[in-house]
Amino acid sequence: GEARLQRPRRWRLGVMGGTFDPIHHGHLVAASEVAAQFELDEVVFVPTGVPWQKRHRQVSLAEDRYLMTVIATASNPRFSVSRVDIDREGDTYTVDTLRDLREERGDNTDLFFITGADALRQILTWRGAEQLFDLAHFVGVTRPGVPMTKDDLRHLPESSVTLLEVPALAISSTDCRDRVRAHQPIWYLVPDGIVQYIAKRGLYPAPMTGVPDDR
Ligand code: ATP
Ligand code: MG
Repeated sequence: GEARLQRPRRWRLGVMGGTFDPIHHGHLVAASEVAAQFELDEVVFVPTGVPWQKRHRQVSLAEDRYLMTVIATASNPRFSVSRVDIDREGDTYTVDTLRDLREERGDNTDLFFITGADALRQILTWRGAEQLFDLAHFVGVTRPGVPMTKDDLRHLPESSVTLLEVPALAISSTDCRDRVRAHQPIWYLVPDGIVQYIAKRGLYPAPMTGVPDDR
């Protein structure tokens, strides 16, 4: 008989984009849950370059955010980190992220973009929103404080978006930064190595007294 080469199984790649300033356990649980539910082979964390939605505040250096993401994901064999967004000139748009990853990983890869409920709400306002759904399947994960119902998704193509309930972790990077500034602990909100990295690099310093805080 004719020996037939088995078609290689397609690589199922989760894509977790974020500012990660700093990365916290909410991000890690979301990625882990989606990986399990969608039988992903890998989840790549992609720290953003210049977050155009966050121009109103000072964002930590890309290199610090990149290293924190590496530190937080290093122990998980299925987690990896990509520099595509921080190495690209200019603003970060998800459509560019997905195109770059698709080019880098080749045609045998299926992309699953993982996004919290708050980010999913903004999806239609993103540049290139129409093309996003051709590039990836979108997985919207629940986030405490952000109500999300099927009705919120009515503008989105049904076959391209899945809602997933994940264990509720009421953690945000904003809150972690505020805590560091106020000398409150962030132990157990972020991985131990991130607590230590923030201290070592002196990230999120308390504002000088007497100077108005313009955040
Ligand atoms: P910031 O407060 O600075 O906006 P953040 O905590 O929202 O930080 P981002 O880097 O903005 O973190 O988020 C990256 C992605 O992770 C987004 O899709 C966001 O919705 C999602 N995400 C962040 N925190 C959680 C959480 N606790 N539960 C579920 N999803 C989350
Ligand atoms: Mg956010």
